[in-house]
Amino acid sequence: MSEYDLVVIGAGPGGYVSAIRAGQLGMKVACIDKRETLGGTCLNVGCIPSKALLQSSHKFYDSQNHFAEHGIIAENVKADIGKMQERKNKVIGDLCKGIDFLFKKNKVEKITGTAKLLGDGKISTGEKEITAKNILIASGSVPSSLPDIEIDEKNIISSTGALELDKVPENLVVIGGGVIGLELGSVWARLGSKVTVIEYADDIIPMMDSDIVKNFSRTMKKQGMELKTKTKVVGVKATKKGATIELNGRDDDKSEKIECDKVLIAVGRKPFTDELGLENVGITTNKHGFIEVDKNFKTSVDNVYAIGDVIGGAMLAHKAEEEGVACVEQLSGLRAHVNYNAIPSVVYTHPEVASVGKTEQEIKEQKIEYNVGKFSFIANSRGRAVGETDGLVKVITEKETDKILGVHIMGDQAGTIIHEAVIVMEYTGTSEDLFRCCHAHPTLNEAVKEACLDVHKRAIHS
Ligand code: FAD
Ligand code: NAD
Repeated sequence: MSEYDLVVIGAGPGGYVSAIRAGQLGMKVACIDKRETLGGTCLNVGCIPSKALLQSSHKFYDSQNHFAEHGIIAENVKADIGKMQERKNKVIGDLCKGIDFLFKKNKVEKITGTAKLLGDGKISTGEKEITAKNILIASGSVPSSLPDIEIDEKNIISSTGALELDKVPENLVVIGGGVIGLELGSVWARLGSKVTVIEYADDIIPMMDSDIVKNFSRTMKKQGMELKTKTKVVGVKATKKGATIELNGRDDDKSEKIECDKVLIAVGRKPFTDELGLENVGITTNKHGFIEVDKNFKTSVDNVYAIGDVIGGAMLAHKAEEEGVACVEQLSGLRAHVNYNAIPSVVYTHPEVASVGKTEQEIKEQKIEYNVGKFSFIANSRGRAVGETDGLVKVITEKETDKILGVHIMGDQAGTIIHEAVIVMEYTGTSEDLFRCCHAHPTLNEAVKEACLDVHKRAIHS
């Protein structure tokens, strides 16, 4: 029986990055996943397939709605869904194989099988038993559903089913106006589906800054999505043609029934620990099903650690990666930590929504005195030149110190632009630090500089 320094359970972005880092640090490491293809949720059924389809559908939508204003006449443009899916599958396949290559390069042993903890550092992989000095659980998450609603991946689908549709549904109802609902709702709306989003909260993407949400909500409606907010789903029934959804007003009990071809349940994700045999080692989960860890990612059991979606917090690939690297580096005796205040979050719609740090709502709740600077993409010359004027940057700083507390952007490439704010925040910088950095002209990033200047009431172009 071979003994490993580290066995990682789960080859999602949390698990596979941890395994590679462990290999770099000279550990004898294996990574077990029940999927043959590496990359976890992110590569197989999450980040990457959704971004591939978002890109294809965006190009189609542009050809129908924006080419003409550039003087390009595109007649008889058709969307070939089969081809789009083929491209998406190739992107996934190539990236998954890329991780196999990285495992070999960093001497990470890949084991395909379902891992079960047996106690005393022993793990069953289904076929064999292995032992490890340390075990890192990165078993991730799976889609949640609603009580009495069974996801059949035919007409009542999760994100996984919504990434696999072979034709455009005439009517798609999305339950949950969060990240998945809006990204995958956008894909099918752009390709011609009539999309209705049902959201229980006051507005869609309720976790984002309310100024951004107001603008974003208007934009999504302009793109043809119907948004039913403050609405509860009472029931979903599969029918021969699709599904019937029964709704009630959240505040007024007004009821309604909607018929559709497909209904996407996108009400969040839950930690996945079902097959780990946690009971064999005495690890319990909290009331939401997450594994609890200390600041070094150690579970209640010595030598067993956990990171990523399965421990809660932001369910994001890059958050899982940061935690994995920090955990493995600490195991090697290095100093490492994760700065949870500087983890960006992006919604890859068009325009994108990106955010880092606190929202204005949170700052008010915490009774922090603050300043705000804003700048609209309409006054940004690059935005005008490329036809991307629908956008806004909002910067919030601590009143006394000017330290940046939060940056919120809606606009073309917001997910890329946000990183200058991430870097400044990582170094506890101020809005003045940011605006004193020279920004190339003409770029969309100049809108961030102007928003920082606006904090000091000295924006140039507004
Ligand atoms: P996962 O990626 O869930 O990986 C866990 C792995 O563990 C799985 O492969 C599973 O098979 C394996 N596993 C579980 N139990 C066992 C066991 N007992 N034995 C063996 N293997 C096991 N995040 C972003 O940051 N950006 C995005 O754009 C983004 N888009 C998304 C789009 C969609 C549609 C979805 C669903 C998610 C998206 N996410 C995105 C979220 C992101 O995918 C997750 O936050 C991320 O994958 C979590 O990584 P993880 O390593 O913790 O777990
Ligand atoms: P989410 O938490 O982003 O959104 C779920 C939404 O459903 C919320 O707005 C919530 O108010 C609403 N909701 C919950 N119950 C409801 C009900 N009964 N009726 C109507 N609305 C209801 O979850 P998600 O969109 O399913 O995404 C899951 C996770 O995956 C997220 O945590 C997200 O971080 C991650 N993800 C990230 C990205 C990205 O980074 N671009 C993309 C997709 C998914």
